[in-house]
Amino acid sequence: MQVADGVYQFKVPMKHNPLGFTYSYFLKESKTLIDTGIPDWGSFNALERQLSEQGTRIKDLERVIITHMHNDHVGLIEYIRQSVDVETIAHRIAEERQLEQIRVYKDMYKNTSEELQLMGGGSFQQFLSRFEHAFIEDSEPLRLDKLLEDGDTIDLSGVKLKVIWTPGHAAEHICLHDTDRRILFSGDHVLPKITSHVSLHTWENRDPLRDYLNSLNKVKDLPVDLILPGHETNFTDLRGRVTQLLAHHEARLTEVKEALNSGKSTIFDVAGTIHWDSRPWRLMDFWTKRMAAAETYAHLVYLRNKGEVKETIKENTLHYSLS
Ligand SMILES: [Zn+2]
Repeated sequence: MQVADGVYQFKVPMKHNPLGFTYSYFLKESKTLIDTGIPDWGSFNALERQLSEQGTRIKDLERVIITHMHNDHVGLIEYIRQSVDVETIAHRIAEERQLEQIRVYKDMYKNTSEELQLMGGGSFQQFLSRFEHAFIEDSEPLRLDKLLEDGDTIDLSGVKLKVIWTPGHAAEHICLHDTDRRILFSGDHVLPKITSHVSLHTWENRDPLRDYLNSLNKVKDLPVDLILPGHETNFTDLRGRVTQLLAHHEARLTEVKEALNSGKSTIFDVAGTIHWDSRPWRLMDFWTKRMAAAETYAHLVYLRNKGEVKETIKENTLHYSLS
C-alpha cells in the first residue's frame, strides 16, 4: 500500500504472534527499508512479492534503517543479506546493547532462575528447570554499518528523516520524522491500540519506564498528520494517543502503589493484583506471567527511583513497600 509519495507500507507476516505482522516501509527512490520482519522464509517471500509489485527485488535494496533491535523488526536482515549486502543503520546504543545481551545469554538459564527468585516467583523454579536446555543460545551480533544519534538527519534522495531517540520499549528505539511531509515512523514506541511492552530484567541497571514516559513527552507535540507504526494500523492523532498512554501508565502506577498499600511486597505478588489488558493473571501461563512481572518490575523501579517506594532484599527476593 502506498502511504505517501514514494513510500510503501508492506505487511510482513509474523507466525505464532497475535500481532500477525510487522510493517516494513519501503522508500522507493532510495531503495531503503525501515524495519523488516521476523527471520522466516515465508516472511522473506512476502517481502519479495510486495517489492516486486513496485518493480524492485530484494537484491536491489541498498539499506535498512532499524527502529529497534527486536526480532520482529531486524530478524529478516540476515535473510536479506543472503541476496544483497544491505547497509544497516541503527541508533548508537544498539551496538553496546547487542554485546550486553550476548553476555547475558551465555548464562541465560542461571540468570533467569536467579531473576525468578528475586521477583518472588520461586515456586516456579521446578517448572523452569524443565526448560533448561532451551536457554542455550549462541547468537552473533548483527553487523551495523552506521550508527545514529538523536537529532541526526538522514537524507535519502531528497527525503529527509530526522532521528528522534525514544528509549523505553527498547533502549535503542528511534522514531523517524519526515518533517517536510509531517509523517512519523513510530516503530513500536507509539502504537494505536496496544500499549508497548516496557519491562526490565533484574540484571539490567536502567529505568525504562522513566525513559519511556520521557520519550512519549518528546514526541507528543510533533507536527505530524500521519503516524506509521510497526504494527496494527496507521493513525493520525499522535497527541491523543500519547495522552492515553501517559494516563495508562499513571493508572498502572496507582495500582502498583495500592497493591503495596494492601501488603503485597514481591514483584510476582504485586503483578498478581494488576488488571492486565490481555487476560487475568490467574489465567496467564508461566511465560506470560514472567513478562507481566518484568513490566511490574519496571514500574516498581520507576517508583523506587522517584523515592516513592523502598526496596529491600531478603533471602534473595526483592521486597517493596511505600516509603
Ligand atoms: Zn514490534
